[in-house]
Amino acid sequence: MVQGEKKMSEFKRPDGRKNDELRPIEAKVGIIPNADGSAMYRSGDTVAIAAVYGPKKMHPQHQQDPSKGKLRCTYNMLSFSVSDRIRPGLNRRSTEIGKITEWALDPVLDLSKFPNMVVDVHIHITQADAGTRCAGINAASMALAQAGLPMKDLVTSVAMGKLDRTIVVDLTKEEEDWEEGEGPTDIPLSMTKDGKITHLQLDGKISPSQLKEAIDLSRKACAEVYEIQKKALKEAIEKNE
Ligand code: UDP
Repeated sequence: MVQGEKKMSEFKRPDGRKNDELRPIEAKVGIIPNADGSAMYRSGDTVAIAAVYGPKKMHPQHQQDPSKGKLRCTYNMLSFSVSDRIRPGLNRRSTEIGKITEWALDPVLDLSKFPNMVVDVHIHITQADAGTRCAGINAASMALAQAGLPMKDLVTSVAMGKLDRTIVVDLTKEEEDWEEGEGPTDIPLSMTKDGKITHLQLDGKISPSQLKEAIDLSRKACAEVYEIQKKALKEAIEKNE
């Protein structure tokens, strides 16, 4: 028997999910009446809310772009979102995730008709059990659509992972801390409906063939999430009719 084969056959996720099974998802659009667009996205014990304000005049002025509007995303994990209280305010991690969120969403957004303007997206994580950047991107994508901004498509995001040698979807925090065998690899990624990847990160080690396997599996997961996002948007439109 090749070393590792036994482990693969015995592999079990801590919460009993199948390798390609997402956590229970909930999505709601229009949760903040004062915002131009807003949404909530829940994956298991991870909950993100997103609020969109704009387009509005860009401040500070030196950041204005006369050729197009800008997307500006802020990501904030609330201090009560995990059992160890998080220090409030921005930090290196939240600044990085805000930027990544902009990169994930920018390719579908056309702000060419809004020179010198900004669209602000505020993402707050109210509960965190890994995959918060993906939940934030999913919520932000729905909120931007509800705000009626010109978009080619929705963006859908999922955290793929490799636990020892097995590829799985939608890692929990417990899985992100996997200690057996080769340990964990975290691969959050985002894509459009037609499978164009707008964001991919990789924390850990993975072979090119297993990375391909993870991306292939993510397409099925993203298709499931996309349908849930679409349904939430439709429900919000119907409610307002
Ligand atoms: N986390 C935490 N405190 C922190 C940052 C993260 O407890 O200051 C936890 C939280 O559950 C988060 C997880 O670690 O969801 C994974 O964080 P990571 O930076 O990998 O980003 P995420 O998977 O949430 O996008």
